[in-house]
Amino acid sequence: MTAKEFLEQCRENEIEFIDFRFTDIKGVWHHVTYDIDAIDEEVLENGLPFDGSSIPAWQPINESDMVLKPDFEIGTHFIDPFTADPTMVVFCDVYNTDGTPYEKCPRSIAKRTLQYMAEQGIGDVAYFGPENEFFVFENVVIRDEINSQCYEVDTIEGAWNDYIAEFGDELNIGHRPRTKGGYSPVPPVDSMMDLRAEMVKVLKEVGLQTFVVHHEVAQGQGEIGVKFGTLVEAADNVQKLKYVVKMVAHLNGKTATFMPKPLYGDNGNGMHTHQSIWKDGRNMFYDPNGYANLSKVALQYIAGVFENANAVAAFTNASMNSYKRLQPGFEAPNILAYSAKNRSASCRIPWGAGEKSVRTEFRFPDSTANPYLAFSVMLLAGLWGIKNNAEIYEAAREPLNEDLFELTLDEIKERGIRTLPATLREAIYAVEDELAKEDSFLKVTLKDGSRVFTDNFLKTYIDYKYETEIIPVEGR
Ligand code: GLU
Ligand code: MG
Ligand code: MG
Repeated sequence: MTAKEFLEQCRENEIEFIDFRFTDIKGVWHHVTYDIDAIDEEVLENGLPFDGSSIPAWQPINESDMVLKPDFEIGTHFIDPFTADPTMVVFCDVYNTDGTPYEKCPRSIAKRTLQYMAEQGIGDVAYFGPENEFFVFENVVIRDEINSQCYEVDTIEGAWNDYIAEFGDELNIGHRPRTKGGYSPVPPVDSMMDLRAEMVKVLKEVGLQTFVVHHEVAQGQGEIGVKFGTLVEAADNVQKLKYVVKMVAHLNGKTATFMPKPLYGDNGNGMHTHQSIWKDGRNMFYDPNGYANLSKVALQYIAGVFENANAVAAFTNASMNSYKRLQPGFEAPNILAYSAKNRSASCRIPWGAGEKSVRTEFRFPDSTANPYLAFSVMLLAGLWGIKNNAEIYEAAREPLNEDLFELTLDEIKERGIRTLPATLREAIYAVEDELAKEDSFLKVTLKDGSRVFTDNFLKTYIDYKYETEIIPVEGR
């Protein structure tokens, strides 16, 4: 769609405001709004000025002028279902004032990653299908007037432990899922059905195609399946999904969170990510003679992700809390193995998938990842595997079909099975190591000589995580 067509669409829908949105390094969605009367084709084509110094880890104050360029081509713009006045939301890429793409704009990095894949002749489309799980919490703090004590806020179906012990008789708490009992008794145990349905309706309005909608395993946990898309489209859809789920919960007096492990002892929130690469209309991951229909290219892709897993995790599992989720027994695997059907392996191959649908499902990512960066880094790791003809390390070369959560640490060691890092610190150290290498999967160059991830961006990412998540240790 051109700028002209976009403006026509705005006029047809009697749009009064245009909301220009962009994503920062952490994955937070930002916006600036313009009165439609201030916008014409030329403004849309040249981009809109904004202050890049007020966005975390972006520009210094003395170089703060930046430009937002709306992207109509991918077609992910939508009418905001929550505003009182008709408002069109459009995804933007961030540019420098000299017209070059900004090195720290995650959406531009995603586009450069795709350019790299095409230039290397490996594929022309990469499909991503993320599954972002979430919890819904009560939005109230219960205050006991007599003792002026605040009780903890809990999931909408949770125990409210102290409060129940004292006032249980007065609450309708008879039907609720037990710990790990949320998948999938019917109502009244599942009390989130109407809320999820409302979310789905709004998601459809903003252009997402949904399929399975269900209660997840933990109390107050839900999942709404969204159709896969191309890399940038799928990442845009993650931003939309988070926005809609949070807003619908908010408007119902509740709080939704995608935090990886909000409740100790119950399942956490994942962002399993399905992936495949296509070339000339063919799924490069398909071979009818391979295990679970997987091609050699798919195995090389998996090998690339496994070989680079420590640095990949810094982007796919981007918070300290992420690593609390990756514990045995909660369907969130840290073991670097692949297997059809097996949810205790970090790479599951959905069973029975044919020519069009064969794909890898990496199960370790979570929604604290910036989707543009996480998808780009996984794709680059996989492309590295394909280019280097990588083989999956020996202990996991054959699919591991057993329950891997049953393995003891000694068994893992003895068998030479590898795992993801146990903390964000280790993951960030791995990014530092990649930065120091001459030749790293993160340091690939495009034909025009520019880099997908610049050194400056990687340094910024590392420093940002030290500032906001990990306390740096002397001597490293
Ligand atoms: N909630 C689990 C996780 O943390 C996944 C459950 C499922 O298989 O969908 O990844
Ligand atoms: Mg799930
Ligand atoms: Mg899944």
